[in-house]
Amino acid sequence: MNLHEYQARELLSQHGVPVPPGEVAASAEQAEAAAACIGGQVVVKAQVHSGGRGKAGGVKLAGGPAEAREAAEQILGTAIRGLPVHQVLVAPAADIRREIYVSFVLDRAEKTVSLIASAEGGVDIEEVAATSPESIVRAHADPLLGFQPWQAREVAFRLGLGGAHVRQFADIAMKLYEVFTENDASLVEVNPLAEVGSGELQALDAKVTLDDNGLFRHRHLAALRDTSQEDPSEVRAAQAGINYVKLDGEIGCMVNGAGLAMATMDMVKLYGGEPANFLDIGGGATAEQVTAALNIILSDPNVKAVLINIFGGIARCDVVAHGIVEALEHVERRVPMVVRLEGTNAEEGRRILENAHLHSAVSLSEVAELAVRLVTGDASAPKELPVSTSEA
Ligand code: GDP
Ligand code: MN
Repeated sequence: MNLHEYQARELLSQHGVPVPPGEVAASAEQAEAAAACIGGQVVVKAQVHSGGRGKAGGVKLAGGPAEAREAAEQILGTAIRGLPVHQVLVAPAADIRREIYVSFVLDRAEKTVSLIASAEGGVDIEEVAATSPESIVRAHADPLLGFQPWQAREVAFRLGLGGAHVRQFADIAMKLYEVFTENDASLVEVNPLAEVGSGELQALDAKVTLDDNGLFRHRHLAALRDTSQEDPSEVRAAQAGINYVKLDGEIGCMVNGAGLAMATMDMVKLYGGEPANFLDIGGGATAEQVTAALNIILSDPNVKAVLINIFGGIARCDVVAHGIVEALEHVERRVPMVVRLEGTNAEEGRRILENAHLHSAVSLSEVAELAVRLVTGDASAPKELPVSTSEA
């Protein structure tokens, strides 16, 4: 889950990171009032779960309240990188002398939390990595000892900072590490960490990504979720307790178990198809869950066929089969469908499906191949495909 910049700023500020004040506005009038309250030049910033807002016209400087109102009018209601802007942050404009990039990330390759920094901040770190990789400084936290102050100071020296900036940077880095670990984050990024007119280092932008699996420990943060910034079908899936990730292919997959879902996607690929999604329906696979899952899969207009692969371990195949038959009465759209049932009460399950004129199979390769043929319209496919009569 991502936080908005204003939420991330607040979190950083609670941990003692120097962050300029700011106010959130949902209308141009509110932005005008906020600018009047702050006084002087302000910056009006689109609040969307995306970086690169500056380049996309989502960050505007304003000389006073009237200009702030104008800027907010231009930004609110637009979309930045496909995400709707419902709010802007109004903050005093900083006099930027230098921009530093600093972040803590969950570093899978190093199997720990790593600090990444660059003296060439402001621009996307991906761009820095491509154009001047030598400017990127890394340091890895010891999993037992945690990130150490001496490491933060060393990074400051490697960035070319001097004088009071070394202590300031080290202090901020330690606090960012604290934000990361105490809130189960997977990313805490400040870009730019700017040297402003007063000489002080300030976090002018903040991005925090939290690990969804840790959210139950941080209810106040979980409450900050803004689903308007997320894929609608993924939001629907999360509400139904289904693990769903939308992909670009045409074969919708409904599987119980994450490992089996991965294997199913591999099989689809093996036969030359492209999965439209990853979907793990979980252990139960009740009629309600099957209905929810099918509707989520079918809400993707790219889906041309559905492949259901269920292993009856805890779930019973006959119950799942009933669920599928029942779900078909409630789905919003129909496409050809193939089902593979295996495990507990599989024969009974297949009989139920056959009675409902749904094609089912024992082997995963058979259904994967069939699903791919249904989508590609392969000439070599058997004339009479034994598929669901529920086809539109
Ligand atoms: P991002 O593009 O989504 O990462 O948004 P940022 O908040 O990082 O802003 C992008 C760029 O706008 C920064 O790198 C700065 O160069 C500039 N910017 C942001 N805030 C201010 C400000 O208060 N004053 C000035 N002069 N520039 C700013
Ligand atoms: Mn930024």
